[in-house]
Amino acid sequence: MPILKDFRYHAPVGVDEALALLHKSKKPLLLGGGTFVLNTLKKTAAYPTDVIGLRKIASLHGIRDAAKEVTIGSMTTLAEVASSPVVGEHFASLAGAAACVATTPLRHMATIGGNVASRFFWVDLPSVLMALGAKVAWAGDKAKKTLSVEDFLSLTGPEARGIVTEVLLPKSGLTGVYFRHTQTMEVDLPLVAMAFAARRQAGGVKDVRCIVNTTLSRPVRLTGVASYFETKKVTEWKADEAADVLRRDLEQGKLDDYRLHCLCADLESLIDKFKKA
Ligand SMILES: Cc1cc2nc3c(=O)[nH]c(=O)nc-3n(C[C@H](O)[C@H](O)[C@H](O)COP(=O)(O)OP(=O)(O)OC[C@H]3O[C@@H](n4cnc5c(N)ncnc54)[C@H](O)[C@@H]3O)c2cc1C
Repeated sequence: MPILKDFRYHAPVGVDEALALLHKSKKPLLLGGGTFVLNTLKKTAAYPTDVIGLRKIASLHGIRDAAKEVTIGSMTTLAEVASSPVVGEHFASLAGAAACVATTPLRHMATIGGNVASRFFWVDLPSVLMALGAKVAWAGDKAKKTLSVEDFLSLTGPEARGIVTEVLLPKSGLTGVYFRHTQTMEVDLPLVAMAFAARRQAGGVKDVRCIVNTTLSRPVRLTGVASYFETKKVTEWKADEAADVLRRDLEQGKLDDYRLHCLCADLESLIDKFKKA
């Protein structure tokens, strides 16, 4: 079994201090909750010279509720996101998705910042955040900026070096739903998932965002499915028609039959849910 090699550990108390360490270290590694990092550290080829722990930075913790948006500090744990009354009230799909991740002990360590910043295809939260129109506050190499989740996930090379400080969620009154499938009960990692959000209006919906996390590539926007739902009254929605549109939306995705089947089943549940509401 491999053992940990030596590295310098830093525990900055401010974002600027952490950024300075990030820039001056030869091979730095940011540590959020550590659920990914500590799992892979022993095996990684690109071993860090410096590990920069973010836990002591007070401004990165907690959930703030303002009139128009809710801000979640990047070091807020998924257990805190899942149990937050504010998140539950305004963004139930996010609370639900956070509650699905891994296991109880892991959710008490894993952070929302680490989930997004890992940039792994298969993690749960990016698709839900995209559906809800969330933004990522990013303290990068050259500047601090606020990016859409898609733009954040597209950063590469030196541009991708920096710290996620917050996730910002606009209170836009969208109704969100998250469906998630796993391979087996024992392996709790997602295999495919669908995040949906829309604003209800007389007999129908508008501002539809339907994002699928195929776990094979970045989350994909189903634009055809979104316009199918927007252009019909809820009573006219048909699962087989929506499934045909979904297949066309995903033509380039080359999804296996099982994943496609799960997504079509999600559409059926979604339609049922909206018809019954
Ligand atoms: C057994 C197991 C099961 C899991 N199941 C799931 C699951 O079902 N769904 C799911 O989505 N994930 C799952 N995960 C993955 C992981 O636990 C979560 O995605 C978690 O949210 C990662 O957050 P963290 O704080 O632990 O990240 P860390 O491990 O600390 O970091 C992850 C990456 O992000 C970087 N990073 C961390 N914080 C920041 C920041 N603020 N700014 C910039 N970069 C940062 C780190 O450098 C690292 O590259 C699982 C992991 C394990 C070990």
